[in-house]
Amino acid sequence: MPANVRLTIDNVRQHIVGIDARVPLLDGTQQQYINFDNAASTPALRPVHDKVNDFMTWYSSVHRGAGFKSQIATMAYEVAHDLVGCFVGADLRTNTVIFGKNTTEAINKLARRFPLAPGDVVLCSLMEHHSNDLPWRRQARLHHIAIRPDGSLDEDDYDRLLRRHAGRVKLVAISGASNVTGYVNPIHRLAEKAHAAGAKILVDAAQLAPHRPIAMRADDDPGHIDFLALSAHKIYAPYGTGVLIGPAALFEQGDPDLVGGGTVDIVTEDDVRWAGPPDREEAGSPNVVGAVALAQAVLCLEEIGMAALAAHEADLTAHALRCLQAIDGVQLYGMTDPDRAAERLGVIPFTVRGEDHYKVAAVLSFEGGIGVRNGCFCAQPYIHRLLQVPDDTALRYQQEIIAGTRSNLPGLVRVSLGCYNTTDEIDHLADLLARLVAGDLLGEYDQDPHSGVYWPRDFQPD
Ligand code: PMP
Repeated sequence: MPANVRLTIDNVRQHIVGIDARVPLLDGTQQQYINFDNAASTPALRPVHDKVNDFMTWYSSVHRGAGFKSQIATMAYEVAHDLVGCFVGADLRTNTVIFGKNTTEAINKLARRFPLAPGDVVLCSLMEHHSNDLPWRRQARLHHIAIRPDGSLDEDDYDRLLRRHAGRVKLVAISGASNVTGYVNPIHRLAEKAHAAGAKILVDAAQLAPHRPIAMRADDDPGHIDFLALSAHKIYAPYGTGVLIGPAALFEQGDPDLVGGGTVDIVTEDDVRWAGPPDREEAGSPNVVGAVALAQAVLCLEEIGMAALAAHEADLTAHALRCLQAIDGVQLYGMTDPDRAAERLGVIPFTVRGEDHYKVAAVLSFEGGIGVRNGCFCAQPYIHRLLQVPDDTALRYQQEIIAGTRSNLPGLVRVSLGCYNTTDEIDHLADLLARLVAGDLLGEYDQDPHSGVYWPRDFQPD
């Protein structure tokens, strides 16, 4: 992008790397790829890609090199921390921004570093991604906040759990938005309640950060967010960086999570003095390129304006909900009212009557050039609730997985929108789903029972 071109919600599509890529279809033609899998990972923004390329000229070791390039690289790496902190409204006087690999690593780090004693309780919800559930199971007595039939958080149950475990709840670990239903949690209200109960709150912002403005707020605000985690690859900077933000004071206590180079101020033969955060929590040589990419991505999103981006995505989401609802045989899950699209993200799960979710995803890919995800999206308990899978059936599925077959597993198809998607792309999806429901397919599909994946018979794209 020339330096003088301003990135806006109207031109952002032209600045997506790979937007013109064409993929082979079953009818022998090729079609421009439609990426409706943004909740899993987003493509890179062109200015991010360009920034990375420019930065390679100056790339060098950070923190420990005296050379000019090392100083430039160190400055870029450190500034990236502040830019990301500002992007989510963290109070950088008291909070530290720690870079790592991804959200999963960030939450695992917090789970190991957060002071928890035997008997302490952590609350997370039934809508959590496994990455904001499993790390807590290892460290605390974890209780799940229930969800309502539409997939939203049951806040009455949250209140009940806070009361029932009064004095013992040390942390509430909750997603900012669901990667399955796009449901957006009222994080500041939940934070107020957590704080009133003497607990801290972690927001898993892997899904929220690319789509909504976030303000962690000042530490003395009752609704402030204590900890926040996000992944750069979901925010148009897929260069391997993840972020954990939280009070510097917490990370100054105790030993770092990983120890080694970069984490220390002094090492003697039998003693060590740890460096301050974030260094002490970023052991080893960091991913400087990923940090520069993420910083550029947040600058780009700020240039577009998160409010403009959210409004545009709400329009796309409303359009998608209307189109999909109009197809008899497509069942939507979660919050489905198009007039309330602005209240949720453009993450839309559905099933097609009589069709396996694996097959629907294959048809969309091979007959429409459309990339979606299907299955349980690393949120198995949530999907089972949404699909109302009875316990004995769930047990049967578990036995099937153990026996090596996935051909009958319950699951959903998920369309997840990014700021660069268009209504034309959604119309294309709806047309193809209507054809699928009508049985008007080009190919015959065979399932690999081991993986569950369908592949069109005799199709061998070049
Ligand atoms: N939390 C949520 C809500 C997610 O959607 C994801 C990724 N799908 C994660 C956590 C984990 O992110 P990562 O794979 O980048 O660690």
